[in-house]
Formats: sequence, C-alpha cells, structure tokens
Amino acid sequence: MNQVCFRFYEELNDYLPKELHKVWFECRFELGTSVGEKIQSLGIPLDDIDLILVNQQSKRFDYLMQDGDRISVYPEFELFDLSGISQLREKPLRNTRFICDVHLGRLCKYLRMLGLDTLYSNRYTTKEMVNFSRQEKRILLSRSYQLIRHKEVTHAYWIRSAEPLEQLSDLIRKLDLSGLANPLTRCLNCNDRIVTVEKQEILHRLQAMTAKYYTEFFKCAACDQIYWKGSHYENMLEFIYRHLEKDLPVKSLTHETDPDNS
Ligand SMILES: [Zn+2]
Repeated sequence: MNQVCFRFYEELNDYLPKELHKVWFECRFELGTSVGEKIQSLGIPLDDIDLILVNQQSKRFDYLMQDGDRISVYPEFELFDLSGISQLREKPLRNTRFICDVHLGRLCKYLRMLGLDTLYSNRYTTKEMVNFSRQEKRILLSRSYQLIRHKEVTHAYWIRSAEPLEQLSDLIRKLDLSGLANPLTRCLNCNDRIVTVEKQEILHRLQAMTAKYYTEFFKCAACDQIYWKGSHYENMLEFIYRHLEKDLPVKSLTHETDPDNS
C-alpha cells in the first residue's frame, strides 16, 4: 500500500479531527489518486486552498501522488487582515501601500508608475522589510514563501510569477487596485510625490528637442527628477496599460493623462 504524509496549515485544520491539527500525519492511497481527490476525501474544500507543496514543489490539484510524498497544504492568505481586503472592495482604501522585497525592483517601478506608494531597496535586510511593513502598514510583496509567512508580518501578498508584468496584473486583480491607479503622480526613483512644474522653471535643464516638443512637466520635490509626457516614463506607462487591458477590462485603468482620450 502506498503512503504519503500530509500537513495542513492555519484554518484548514478546522476541517480535521483534533489529533491531526498542525502535525504531519500519514495517509494511505491507491496509485492514480490525485492530491486534490485525497484532500477532498479528508473533508477539506478545495476552494479554501491556495497552495500545495509536494516535497517543497508547488503542485496543482491534479498531481498524482507518489509513495513517500510529503505534502503541505496552505489556505488563501493574500492579505492576513481580511477585513482590509473586503474594505478594499467596498470602498477603496486610500492608503494601500507596499514594500517590495529585494528581488522585485521592476514590479516596484511599475507600481510607482501607477502612482502606488511602494518602498524598495536592493539593500533592505529581512528585518528592515518586516519593520517597514509593520510600522508603515505596508503590504509586503515577495516571491519568498518563507518571508510572507514571517511570524511578525501581518500584511503580505505572495507573488507567484517570475515575470514583472504578470506580477503586476495578478496584484491588481487580487487586491482590486484598479480604482487606485493614479499615473504620473509618483517618482520612480524615490517614491515621493511628483507635482506639475512650470516649463519656464526647469527650461535650463531640458534638452533642446524636449523643450521644443513638450509643454507639460512634472518634478519630484524630494530628488528633483523631472518627468514629462512623451518621456520614457510615459512610454512605459502606455506599455503597462496595454498589457493590463488585455487581462483586465477595467474602465478606470484607461489612460487619463492622454489628451487623445479626454
Ligand atoms: Zn524622486
């Protein structure tokens, strides 16, 4: 007879008899049984499950179990504070803030392009990221399951994809961020607010072609970076919007700063 070991996490234990709570336990099975079937036969609804790790590898419900597998099963936990996520849906929170871990620099840029307050440094230590997340009520974004599960982190979202644009659209969909996007309001370098600035004021810093063809300019009050429509920033924004519109038919994500759309 074949045997696997299961371990269920957090509220998934509510479906199990007490002696199986939060411990590894053995289960027999017939070859050809999928992990999803086995979990259901233990009385756990698949809808409550977000992640299955078989011998530390993420697997789908249709994975066919093998003798000796060690299977950990985790519930949904996009946001540990579930009241927060429901509030997001009913009335958008104005202060949805993020901190990206050291491997998510590109995602951070994309979020800032959309105007979302996002901290990032490739020099942050785990302790610093956890502290910023707690102290500034920032949702910690990471591809590391360990970091997301850090005992001191209260708000976190596990980034599944390795591809930054996929990461962004997943995040927008899951956390319902589309209504919060406010492009060209945040500095890509330092995350501070950018504000419109008179062309005259910064004319001496512009290249001739830029000065000739563009009229609307923005400046970061903190690091003094200048942005303008038609710049790399704007091109990247168009690129992001095109990608998001493919996945998300969300009206509020149409590009409001584009004069052609107004
Ligand atoms: Zn700046």
